Amino acid sequence: MTEKCIKALKMRGVSVDDIIDIVLMLQSPYIDDLSREEIEEDIFEILAKREVYHTVMTGIAIDIAVEENKLFDQEIMDSMRGDYGLFGVDEVLAYGICNLYGSIALTNFGYVDKMKPGIIGVVNDDLTRVNTFLDDIIGAIAASAASKLAHTHKKEIKKVVMMKKRGTK
Ligand code: MG
Repeated sequence: MTEKCIKALKMRGVSVDDIIDIVLMLQSPYIDDLSREEIEEDIFEILAKREVYHTVMTGIAIDIAVEENKLFDQEIMDSMRGDYGLFGVDEVLAYGICNLYGSIALTNFGYVDKMKPGIIGVVNDDLTRVNTFLDDIIGAIAASAASKLAHTHKKEIKKVVMMKKRGTK
């Protein structure tokens, strides 16, 4: 599933490295020596989940279908093609990914949706393609990785504090 997601994202001009850049921006202020390898591992784990796989593939499939004018209703296609601000279904689909990773994922998703850092801004501004769902999917994966990292490192910090209290460190 991870491989298929990465291939589909690549086909739409998004690499894992692009997503790592966003996660680094989100999480490096909180974690010392955060490595690209650690982030990559978390992104791979996220993409291995069946629900995430379904979301990534569905979002990209809708973008392509609209690009090729293949949906039955012109008005709804126009809303998607124009990335109409009140459409909202793209965000709702993508934050299903964040729901698997808790409140930090959700708040970060809202933040990157507004700020459009890195590749999110690039695909959002690309007028040669329909990327209405893609930008939110990238944001949700990055936000979920940020949350996963926050929780992993939180445990480590707590462990160090406890060890110091016990005098074992
Ligand atoms: Mg969108």
